[in-house]
Amino acid sequence: AKDHKEIGFEFYNDHALTDLPEKTDFDTHFNLALENEEFYLVFQPQYFASSKKLRGFEVLTRWYSPILGNVNPAQFIPIAEKKGLMILFGQWILTEACEKYKKIQSLYPHNIIMSVNISSIELMDPTFFPMVKNILNNTGVSGKNIEFEISESIFKAPMAQLTDILKKLKELDIQIALDDFGNSISYLNKLQKLPIDTIKINKVFIDDIDNSEVSNHPVASMVSLGHSMNMSVLAKGVETNTQFDYLKKQHCDCIQGYLFGKPLKEITFHRLLEELILY
Ligand code: C2E
Ligand code: CA
Ligand code: CA
Repeated sequence: AKDHKEIGFEFYNDHALTDLPEKTDFDTHFNLALENEEFYLVFQPQYFASSKKLRGFEVLTRWYSPILGNVNPAQFIPIAEKKGLMILFGQWILTEACEKYKKIQSLYPHNIIMSVNISSIELMDPTFFPMVKNILNNTGVSGKNIEFEISESIFKAPMAQLTDILKKLKELDIQIALDDFGNSISYLNKLQKLPIDTIKINKVFIDDIDNSEVSNHPVASMVSLGHSMNMSVLAKGVETNTQFDYLKKQHCDCIQGYLFGKPLKEITFHRLLEELILY
């Protein structure tokens, strides 16, 4: 439990990783959880703002542990990263996601995009690219249907290395989205030079739309900035109609958030797709 305290994570519910039996360390528990199939994926829809058509969905990982209950990814992902388990875990996530995508494609035969979160640690690992290529080959999912969400922490990596991996992913037609855009403008010069297709505006900016004079909110500048760099712009965590109306008015391309759909379990997501196909 000592390691977890050091990281200072937030508790998700009554049960948490600190409740692990004394002798089981996180690594053992995590590997067992992987073996016992305690991890599963949920799917959150993303829509085009103007047409309200389905753009795709983001894959989010869940952990239900019989001992700990539901453990929040904001808790277990950073620990997996710190413990050097993220490469293996990321491989499981992408494989599982691609397998699920095949079924989704059979229910909803449009080229919707599947967004998968990729840790900086994974992206910069030399084994990452060959692994991605293998998974796409083995599952038969085309790169053009995949988007990788990378985080701002990636800009700490050397530019040459970052450019190299992103270019290679683009050769597989994989799209790149920058997650939680807006925390810092110190890397804008780098952003502009990289083959990034989409920026996802951090939810904190979207939340703020409700409480301010909407005429010249920072979100408006963020949308223009994205467009000026030839990137599409997606707003994260859209929860109210006020936010949605404002985003549409500013020509924000895509939206994701509880207003349009929470992350759904596979079966519920399939039902959503079946409904969408009828309209
Ligand atoms: P994220 O990538 O920023 O994902 C968005 C988070 O916001 C998700 O939390 C989602 O459930 C939540 N969310 C979506 N719409 C709304 C909304 O309208 N309102 C509110 N309040 N929340 C909303 P979740 O699933 O708990 O994931 C937390 C974080 O854990 C993710 O943040 C991501 O950084 C990480 N994560 C989750 N799954 C994976 C994964 O498969 N791989 C990696 N590397 N990280 C993951
Ligand atoms: Ca994300
Ligand atoms: Ca995040």
